[in-house]
Amino acid sequence: MKALIIVAALFLVTAVSAQPFKTKNIIMISMDGFRWHELFRGADSSLIFSKKYNSIDSARYVQKFWGPDEQTRREKLMPFVWQHIAQYGQLYGNRDLGNKVNVRNTFWFSYPGRSEVQTGYFDPAVNSNDYPDNPNENVLEFINKKKGYEGKVVSFASWDAVARILNRDRNGMLVNIDGEDVKGDDLTSLQKEANRFQHYSPDIFGPGERPDADTYLMSKAYIMAKHPKVVYIDFGDTDEYAHGGRYDFYLDGANKTDIMISDLWNYLQQDPFYKGQTTLLIFPDHGRGEGSQWTSHGQKAPHSDETYLMVMGPDTPATGEQKTQGQIYQDQYAQTMAMLLGFHFTANHPVGEPVNSVMK
Ligand SMILES: [Zn+2]
Repeated sequence: MKALIIVAALFLVTAVSAQPFKTKNIIMISMDGFRWHELFRGADSSLIFSKKYNSIDSARYVQKFWGPDEQTRREKLMPFVWQHIAQYGQLYGNRDLGNKVNVRNTFWFSYPGRSEVQTGYFDPAVNSNDYPDNPNENVLEFINKKKGYEGKVVSFASWDAVARILNRDRNGMLVNIDGEDVKGDDLTSLQKEANRFQHYSPDIFGPGERPDADTYLMSKAYIMAKHPKVVYIDFGDTDEYAHGGRYDFYLDGANKTDIMISDLWNYLQQDPFYKGQTTLLIFPDHGRGEGSQWTSHGQKAPHSDETYLMVMGPDTPATGEQKTQGQIYQDQYAQTMAMLLGFHFTANHPVGEPVNSVMK
């Protein structure tokens, strides 16, 4: 009888702790300050034809991104999103249909936005892009301590503040930022080229910010060589061009991001390590204002707390664009990611509830 109870207890423990989902790997992609407006509606007519916000040869961007209706325009802007994620995954945040995603923080800019995503928590004290090392524990370092995930959780960012947001000095994770080479004695030839290549790009965004194409090559070379299980890629071109008032480049940046995401997803689906067991999440850190305030975000730019979430993977029902009333917040992503991997995220602060509808 005693033995039976022990066997039953062991069975129960095993059943409770077993990963209920197929997801073994997570790819997270952040698009800094890319608006839901363009994601769901495509190019904005009040901006794409504006002389103020476009270069002299803007006709080629009108040709590239304009079309007779929103469906055509959004598919021209982000073809992978609308031909693939909309078919096999989920998109939250089309406010025209009453489906809402918002940031929980009250600041509506970059450090607080990323901190909220990765910690699952809005900390009112984290109120500046110059904030030092983040005291709040994040889901990446939580997963990095789990058996089988040690050293397998990595981040690649265009913006150098991500090193402080994730507090790499505390957790020792690889957080590769602007200007830094990936180190190691066993680098592949592609990794070595990626290290060199990033120093050839003009410093168009000023100190601390490298172009996304460089960040992408660094991350893809690493993924191919090392097979990390959790990868956070943090892109910034869209925010840089928007702050600069360049709508043509802002659109083109979003389009290039879509192409890079497509390239990565296609690679993952032909690598047995990732194929069929990797979930992709895409989101921004904040939105932007409307009308002439599209260049800006923050408390003085209404609507810049409005965002979106895209998810695609083996555990996510293929319900596409969400067309019903709903509301999620970005402090829910951290627990969602942990749960997809079979973990319950706990930290030195409260954590937002998961988005249950992304899991079967
Ligand atoms: Zn930002």
